[in-house]
Amino acid sequence: MDDSMFEARVDRLLSLMDDRGLDGLLVAEENNMLYLTGFSGGSLLLIPRFGDRLLYVHPVNYEAAKAEAFGVEVELVGRGEDVLARVSDAIRDAGIKSLGFDSLRASTYLKLRDANPNVDLKDAGEILWSLRKVKDQSEIELMRFAAELTSRGMNRAAEMIRAGVSEREVAAEIEYEMRRGGSDGVAFDTIVASGPRSAYPHGGCGDRRMKRGDLVVVDVGAKYRGYCSDLTRTFIVDEPSPKSLRIYETVREAQNLAFKAIRAGVRACEIDRIARDYISKAGYGEYFVHGLGHGVGLDIHEPPALSPKSRDVLAEGYVVTVEPGIYIPGFGGVRIEDTVLILKDRAEKLTSSPIPQY
Ligand code: ZN
Ligand code: ZN
Repeated sequence: MDDSMFEARVDRLLSLMDDRGLDGLLVAEENNMLYLTGFSGGSLLLIPRFGDRLLYVHPVNYEAAKAEAFGVEVELVGRGEDVLARVSDAIRDAGIKSLGFDSLRASTYLKLRDANPNVDLKDAGEILWSLRKVKDQSEIELMRFAAELTSRGMNRAAEMIRAGVSEREVAAEIEYEMRRGGSDGVAFDTIVASGPRSAYPHGGCGDRRMKRGDLVVVDVGAKYRGYCSDLTRTFIVDEPSPKSLRIYETVREAQNLAFKAIRAGVRACEIDRIARDYISKAGYGEYFVHGLGHGVGLDIHEPPALSPKSRDVLAEGYVVTVEPGIYIPGFGGVRIEDTVLILKDRAEKLTSSPIPQY
């Protein structure tokens, strides 16, 4: 990554600010700061339409900010000093009359409003999402590597799963494998949910030992330089029962159909519908209890949503998950998920772990 990439992002941001009539933007979300400056440890980032961008940093992160943040003046905020008073001075100095913000605590918003009675404050979080939804070349490279690490973790799970092994042991091996490969950590808490627990879509992992015939949902994500990845496979310990097999094959085909349909220009709700219709026709519609997928990037769950109510149209450069699931309470669940990059007339799977065949 270099300065020019951050400059390009900020240029696009400034032009969107123009479109909305904003002459300043206050950024509080750490991943938005990271996206715009390469540094996430600031307290607030003020982007005036004209003039220097100001990154407000506490002493603990000051040296790191000076070394790592691109394209900003780093402003040291003393311990106990009121950062909002400093920001309000800068808002006045820059002559900002219409200030967008991404996301502020209610208490911060109220203080900011009281300190700047002549400034029009506007919720502008969607501007940043409209940029972040489309991944640029350097982001795609980082996400490719995060996905590769994630696939390696999943391949390790595939080797380990058998009767007698505990969920926690499998999770530990997955995370070790990803960390050894270069992961900065996990994008979310690893899920290894076996037997009846596999019916909880976010089942976490515990001390349960796997038994013959169990369904085991494994959902993992490595993180690399801020970028997340998201991958789920479901395994069946030893022999599948006819019921498990039927659920498994239904989810596998639903994922396959949705993946084949996904490309730029298609509505996100339409992709959800393709998977949902297939699952409903098989008789499991009521057990598919979540949307088909979500955007992935610096956040593990970000726009666009692939769900029945989504209003997004998919575009080139979006990275999203495709993850249908069926969860039968008391019995077990199946989910199959890949992180995919949307291209002009198809999608490319970034995660590459084989989908088991039973
Ligand atoms: Zn997942
Ligand atoms: Zn997901």
